Amino acid sequence: MKPSTQLIHSIPVDELTGAISVPIYQTSTYVQESPGINKGFEFSRANNPTRKVLEDIICNLEEGHAGFAFASGMAAIDAVLKLLKSGDEIMAVEDTYGGIFSIFNHMFERFGIKVNFVDMCDTDKILENINSKTRIIWLESPTNPTLKVADIKSIGKIAKQHDILLVVDNTFVTPLLQKPITLGADIVIHSASKFLAGHSDVLAGLVVVNNKSLADQVKFNQNISGSILSPFEAWLTIRGIETLSLRLEKQCANSIAIANWLAEHPAIDKVFYPGLASHKNHHIARKQQKGYGAVISFSLKEDQVKNAIRIVNSTKLFKLAESFGGVKSMLNHPVTMTHRNIPEEFRKKAGLQDSCIRLSVGIEDAEDLINDLKQALDKLNQPIGKQITVLQ
Ligand SMILES: *Cc1c(COP(=O)(O)O)cnc(C)c1O
Repeated sequence: MKPSTQLIHSIPVDELTGAISVPIYQTSTYVQESPGINKGFEFSRANNPTRKVLEDIICNLEEGHAGFAFASGMAAIDAVLKLLKSGDEIMAVEDTYGGIFSIFNHMFERFGIKVNFVDMCDTDKILENINSKTRIIWLESPTNPTLKVADIKSIGKIAKQHDILLVVDNTFVTPLLQKPITLGADIVIHSASKFLAGHSDVLAGLVVVNNKSLADQVKFNQNISGSILSPFEAWLTIRGIETLSLRLEKQCANSIAIANWLAEHPAIDKVFYPGLASHKNHHIARKQQKGYGAVISFSLKEDQVKNAIRIVNSTKLFKLAESFGGVKSMLNHPVTMTHRNIPEEFRKKAGLQDSCIRLSVGIEDAEDLINDLKQALDKLNQPIGKQITVLQ
């Protein structure tokens, strides 16, 4: 079966009633026949039929051993980090999602877990930074917001040789475009709030692991910490996943058109999109991804916060908002929004420029989206009318 068929038919019909839409099992507990004799469900923190459908879908799509659904992407990340113990170390990709930076540095550090940020596009640097305490290599590929692509297969080999878990946050591209477990990852993470649910209407997180031992540990963490996805949010996420292949097809096609247009614009310095042949990791993306996704970042020749803010305040179709992956196009200024809690030295090291703007490309018409960006970029040549407030 081709991926779009496989995706639709990985969503089961309800065995009990034949319902073609997955039923929402809005229940906390389950009646048992006798103590311990039940239909596989005891209490919804441990297991819920609607959540289980979603967990099986993502496990199937990622070709893993087991899937788990959480209240948000951050809750999913938290459950995976709790596989560690005091004294362990993590090596993480340097331009990581802002929330990850905070959870590593301001929470898990207090429990004696150290994190080391490394450029994952450089395998020599990875090898140099491994030590006897390194337990996890934490990868995002492509990264946020500079869309660097790391060679998951090569890093998977290094991780295996050193008995280190490779965790890949696959939020940016979804399993339709990239399957990290087939490339050597042990654990895949998703913020399903983005492309998987796809309509900017739900927060959800997913974890897929590649073996039983990891499954038992993540299951324990999920149940005992209790940050599970509710039946209704699980249903919304499943409903979103049903149209994932259609949405991504349109979003990727729009993105290529927009990235090519941006690359020619005289006010623009760099365009970060792995689908462009000029992108420095394009050859790796081509090898390990089936498509290049729908997030594009760009920076301006006049690399100043105020110029970026002028643009994000001027678009009409691209809505100014954090997050990405929805059907409606959005844009964001990472330095003052999603990445403002990352210290400047880290931002600079990761190549995040002051004028960087991140686009989340939706399913509108490409030409309309380009015209919207054009009129916003044209504003750079006009005198400033009202004062621009810059929060730093
Ligand atoms: C949004 C995001 C997260 C966090 O997910 P939430 O659902 O917002 O908690 C983690 N990783 C990446 C790459 C993200 O974009």
